[in-house]
Amino acid sequence: MSVVFESKRVRRPLAIRRVTVARVTEVAPTMVRVTLTGEELQGFEAPGPADHVKGFFPGPDGILAVPTIADDGMRQPEVGTVHARDYTPLEFREQGENGPELDIDFVIHGDDGPAAQWAVNAKPGDTFAFGGPRGSLMPPEGASDVVVVTDETGLPAARRFFQNFLPEVPVTGLFFLTDPDLRNYLDDIDGGTRQWFVGDEREAQAEQALRGLDIGERTFVFLAGEAGAMVPLRRYLRRELGLPAGQMDASGYWKRGIVNLDHHAPLDPTDPE
Ligand SMILES: Cc1cc2nc3c(=O)[nH]c(=O)nc-3n(C[C@H](O)[C@H](O)[C@H](O)COP(=O)(O)OP(=O)(O)OC[C@H]3O[C@@H](n4cnc5c(N)ncnc54)[C@H](O)[C@@H]3O)c2cc1C
Repeated sequence: MSVVFESKRVRRPLAIRRVTVARVTEVAPTMVRVTLTGEELQGFEAPGPADHVKGFFPGPDGILAVPTIADDGMRQPEVGTVHARDYTPLEFREQGENGPELDIDFVIHGDDGPAAQWAVNAKPGDTFAFGGPRGSLMPPEGASDVVVVTDETGLPAARRFFQNFLPEVPVTGLFFLTDPDLRNYLDDIDGGTRQWFVGDEREAQAEQALRGLDIGERTFVFLAGEAGAMVPLRRYLRRELGLPAGQMDASGYWKRGIVNLDHHAPLDPTDPE
């Protein structure tokens, strides 16, 4: 197999935006959609399906520490510790109910974590701040079909892949979830193929399903979710199928027992490319 397409990367200047919570909607018992609004959303852009922003959240001391932008880059605040976590800008509307609006879907995972704690308590009028996206990895051009394999944290990105490529390019989604109620997450999107796996064997079942797909020379594969669960999927694609790195995007979105996983760190230390 050879790389037949490249994904273009678009860089943009760093911006930190302070916004307000307009609405909070329950998507499922383990996910809330927080709709943000405010003038600072003007000009927001996130065209890549897997784009992410850095949200800033209060720590255990209740202090919300937000960096500022100076001429020479980002400056840390003088008071408090910055607690930043990555989230997918699900949908941006230039004209929402009362101005620009941005939706972010937060998994409420129950473990202590400043982001999940903030989201479970979020209510209209709360303030929020986020930076980015610093760059966008544009959807690959020339893909014959797209395969996305994620857990619940990758569902917002998966949704964006479905919206971006359908109906022209077929999209297959394999999803392994702890919350069965999230199986209707894509119900309002026509087309595409989805398989949902819940229960103790869900990760292995998703791998079996991936092994059953016909991954061709022009198939683009997106993997996102718990870092440990991503490793066998990536190994299958890279080592057994010999898929070139440019034909896939594989990220650990979180890792069991690790606070604030650095998703830029190699997913598989034995194969860091
Ligand atoms: C590019 C990118 C995009 C992402 N987009 C989204 C998104 O749109 N929506 C979303 O919900 N998440 C998304 N994530 C994942 C999110 O950033 C992590 O889950 C993050 O760790 C949550 O922060 P926290 O403060 O709640 O927990 P942390 O303080 O980071 O971790 C506290 C504890 O909770 C555990 N933990 C963290 N996340 C989970 C989880 N999902 N399930 C179970 N245990 C967990 C950790 O292992 C740790 O033990 C994305 C991650 C990346 C890298």
